[in-house]
Amino acid sequence: MARNKVQFQKGLSEARFDELYGTEELCRAVVFCWRWPEGFICPGCGGRAHCVVKTRALYQCTTCRRQTSLIAGSIFAATKLPLRVWFRAMYHLTQSKGGISSLELGRRLGVTQTTAWKIKHKLMQVMMERDAGKRLAGRIEIDDAYIGGERTGGRRGRGAAGKIPIVAAVETTPEGKPVRIKLRRVEGFRRKALETLAKRNFAPASTIVSDGLRCFTGVSKAGCVHQPIVTGSGRKAALVPAFKWVNTTLANIKSAITGTYRAVRDKHIPRYLAEFEYRFNRRYDLAAMMPRLGYVAVRTPPMPYRLLKLAEDHA
Ligand SMILES: [Zn+2]
Repeated sequence: MARNKVQFQKGLSEARFDELYGTEELCRAVVFCWRWPEGFICPGCGGRAHCVVKTRALYQCTTCRRQTSLIAGSIFAATKLPLRVWFRAMYHLTQSKGGISSLELGRRLGVTQTTAWKIKHKLMQVMMERDAGKRLAGRIEIDDAYIGGERTGGRRGRGAAGKIPIVAAVETTPEGKPVRIKLRRVEGFRRKALETLAKRNFAPASTIVSDGLRCFTGVSKAGCVHQPIVTGSGRKAALVPAFKWVNTTLANIKSAITGTYRAVRDKHIPRYLAEFEYRFNRRYDLAAMMPRLGYVAVRTPPMPYRLLKLAEDHA
């Protein structure tokens, strides 16, 4: 069963992590390879000839004399922390199934919670940008959900106050097994919001399977084929076979988010969702998740703290 394949894979052990990324020197060498797999290229003139300014750890181009640091222009830019701290953060973020709070991350890295928060949100930003452009296609099940707020006796509280509405979309095999997910905050469960979400996140002509909630018809305006299954509401809906996987996936994500983060700021919800999405979509290759994140991090532009604090976009 697919589930077991996910749960019983080896992942990246701490011992192996230390072998690969345990020292600053190792981390620098790895970042160099991620950034310049074919050898140094000057970002100014494209020249390859260079020398290393050892005292300041800079690479100087022989042609235009421009000096480049290893992390300039990447998400690690201007950091005062050693790279091995960043590597350890990437390790914890990718290898812990339910996510890790910045408080816990700070403890493990030996940094303050504020520093851990910045590291974590920068890495979540990498995850978010990485998956933003990838659309789901084929057969997609969608469902509405709320994050946060009070639980109302186990009911799916559509319209409950204080809760943040999200849409979970799961691309499945023809048999209904989940392949990839997208989790998106929406302003509300309105047709227009669903139309926008579908345009951004689903390939045209995808088949969207949903329950009878009216707003879901909005996906047809985005060129998708809408296949509503009228189920009634509440717990009964969860028992309809077509929604089994989506409901299980959604339940796992909701419990992980509420279990790991006591309070998630509304404005940063998209980034938290991106984190879960990223891990879920790469769940079959746990061991490679960390280096893959690192590779993309080196290619993600810097994100100053003042931008990090702003709210992310809807849908
Ligand atoms: Zn140059």
